[in-house]
Amino acid sequence: MSRSIARLLSTSASCSSSNSSSSNNSKPVVNTLESLVAMCKRRGFVHVSGEQFNNGLAGAFDYGPLGTQLKRHIADAWWRAFVERRGDVHGVDTPVLLHPRVWQLAGHVEHFADAVVECRHCGASSRADHVVGAAGDALDDAALAAHIVAHRASLACAHCGRKDAFGDKPPTRRNLMFDTHVGAAAAGLRTYLRPETAQGVFATAKHVMYTLRALPPFGLGQIGRAFRNEIAPGHFLFRMREFEQCELEYFCTQADLPAQLHYWIEFTEAFLTEQLGIPSARLRRRPHRTADDVQPTDDDSFVNSAHYARRGGADLEFRFAFGWSELCGIANRGTFDTERHNITADDGSLLHVVEPSLGLDRLVLAVLDACWRPRLSLPAVGGVDPSGDASIQRDILTLPAQLAPYKFAVLPIRKRDDMLDVARALQRRLMQHARTDMDVTTSIGKRYRRQDEIGTPVCVTIDEQSLLDSTVTLRDRDTTKQIRLTTDQLLDRVKLGSAFTF
Ligand SMILES: [Zn+2]
Repeated sequence: MSRSIARLLSTSASCSSSNSSSSNNSKPVVNTLESLVAMCKRRGFVHVSGEQFNNGLAGAFDYGPLGTQLKRHIADAWWRAFVERRGDVHGVDTPVLLHPRVWQLAGHVEHFADAVVECRHCGASSRADHVVGAAGDALDDAALAAHIVAHRASLACAHCGRKDAFGDKPPTRRNLMFDTHVGAAAAGLRTYLRPETAQGVFATAKHVMYTLRALPPFGLGQIGRAFRNEIAPGHFLFRMREFEQCELEYFCTQADLPAQLHYWIEFTEAFLTEQLGIPSARLRRRPHRTADDVQPTDDDSFVNSAHYARRGGADLEFRFAFGWSELCGIANRGTFDTERHNITADDGSLLHVVEPSLGLDRLVLAVLDACWRPRLSLPAVGGVDPSGDASIQRDILTLPAQLAPYKFAVLPIRKRDDMLDVARALQRRLMQHARTDMDVTTSIGKRYRRQDEIGTPVCVTIDEQSLLDSTVTLRDRDTTKQIRLTTDQLLDRVKLGSAFTF
């Protein structure tokens, strides 16, 4: 394992669980996350930003051409489902820099913090819940402190590895917001890079209600960047310091709240499985533990929630390659924000807010993780690769067609002018409808495997016969099944949206 991959994967104990692929297993196993990270770099999905400078900046990533396409397709799917196709939801786009008063009102200046412990040996900071391990995200500050004291002898520092690293000192809270100055630094206004997109929505909601004459229930959706100065970024795209959020703030009356909470948890879960192809067997719900309904801290079926959360919300957790962890949350924000921004119904009563909040980069990771099949041995079904190697091991990314960076790859079997002309003409026609790659390098078998690895659902092969009768061979990524069609029939299928199943 290269050093940079090891560093990407190394992080807190809280995310590793007993069902993660273990490196001390004596059997040679494919480490799914490791091979995924390597593929992402090799093929231009994602890699560490500024890697050439001392291994890069922790928690910052560059999306390459394929990763950018994938991320955009996921964002588009979210926008379509949560905003575009709903009469009750509208889109907004608010700034990263908001008036500092917003963050005071929101409680972020006071509460948006992690409990942190410092190593007595090397001075490095760690999140207290990570030090405690898998149960850490269910413990409050007092329980974390008690656990650390009770287990002090065995607790090791993740940075220097030494035991008894934290002594008896209780954790301190460290704010996660990046602060900055607007205007000339000395005289300027001190504010923060937004740690969530939601507050921009609350600050503008009254104006939107006025311009649209919107009555509850209605929602405002937004996709945008957020910034958190995480103590321990890690697990690749899982915990980053700069990331994108897809958030919906749904405003409703108190009477409507329980039904809306139920609806949005179900809706979000259906979005993940139906639109993003995430298997439901790898999803689970974990209800929020909140201040107005304190559940026992030793019950880890609950997960700790943010300072604004009220009873009834839940996290949707995904079984990542490194174990179960939060994929997204549906929070009951109650009247926490509407009280501060005076957002009311016509009768003057405060509106309540349900907030499905999804991290876009985390969705990218979950989709990649769910679809990545390294070294899969799969014989051809109903067809044979021209190379005759259809049953050899392949790495496949089984992306749903609507998310794939390329929908088609046009592969002329020989690098000959007449075949290249036909291939280019077909690529141009397909490009009117869907992004299409063209590859003329190396053997056809290797080109198939390259497209399998980046998730292209259909390869279109041009051969001698194509020059005579305008027919081409379509090859299905997952089954390797092949059919022969004329280019016009292919284009008809593309227009009808039926080119991906045969
Ligand atoms: Zn240390």
